[in-house]
Amino acid sequence: MAVLVVGSVALDSVETPFGSVTEVLGGSATYFSLAASFFTSVFVVGVVGKDFSSRHLKLLKSKKIDIDGLEMVEGKTFRWRGRYGYDLNDAETLETRLNVFSHFDPQLPPKYRKTEYVFLANIDPDVQLKVLDQVAGPKLVVLDTMNFWISSKRESLRKVLERVDVVVINEAEARQFAMEANLVTAAKKIQALGPRVLIIKRGEYGVLAFTPRTVFSAPAYPLERIFDPTGAGDSFAGGLMGYLARTRNHREDGWRQAVVLGSVMASFAVEEFSLDRLKSLSHQDIRRRYREFKRLTNFADLRLNR
Ligand code: AMP
Repeated sequence: MAVLVVGSVALDSVETPFGSVTEVLGGSATYFSLAASFFTSVFVVGVVGKDFSSRHLKLLKSKKIDIDGLEMVEGKTFRWRGRYGYDLNDAETLETRLNVFSHFDPQLPPKYRKTEYVFLANIDPDVQLKVLDQVAGPKLVVLDTMNFWISSKRESLRKVLERVDVVVINEAEARQFAMEANLVTAAKKIQALGPRVLIIKRGEYGVLAFTPRTVFSAPAYPLERIFDPTGAGDSFAGGLMGYLARTRNHREDGWRQAVVLGSVMASFAVEEFSLDRLKSLSHQDIRRRYREFKRLTNFADLRLNR
């Protein structure tokens, strides 16, 4: 079952304590697509400018990602410039240039319109709404967003929230959106606005998934080398949704596997700058790390003698 994603396709300039890169391939839809492409077919909705290199398009095509919905128009591609300090959980945005995204009016190719799994990756909530309006009866809609849109487009974001099943959001943004310091209370407030599942990303501390009946906690993989946290959240979402779309198992066990697989994909994304690690990844690497995650959290029942 295919997954449709709308989000940014970007040129990123990133500084971390371990180095910096300028105008490399990035964007929420890009990271998501690459991660999801290991599990299912992907349809991308987005826009780039005429300055976007054909090399990047070739990469997406080589991963069998369908880019018929990725428009190329006059103007410049979206650009994001960010910096991370030693606390890699916290991205500082230095500059956001929407460029071709500021007038983007998505028109979905007919073959995209019946997709059952839809990921509204981090982008203008008004663009997310326009995409949602063109999809007939999706089975599962998942939303990501960030502080930039929470502060500039709160009302549009509320409208999107009413129409989604799942929200994947980072810890600080959950607090910001709910205007609530306690994470559990913040989660309940967001769930009351529509989504039945809320997944809170906590960077190097892993994720907390609030489903209607349970709370599931998955750790982040304790990596020795983290180069660039950019794209961790989108790669998480790609693993999560790619797996759900492939298995169609929406029971508790399916959700938990999907959350761990998302964490696996995020752990790879941060090992190198841009999409470099995701590009070279194999299915065997993924299976191996999934097993390591299982070992990381597995412990025996308590047996205390009286
Ligand atoms: P994350 O997975 O949260 O680290 O997302 C990183 C990606 O989000 C980067 O590759 C950026 O190009 C992209 N990005 C940053 N700011 C925005 C924004 N305001 N809207 C859409 N995408 C963004």
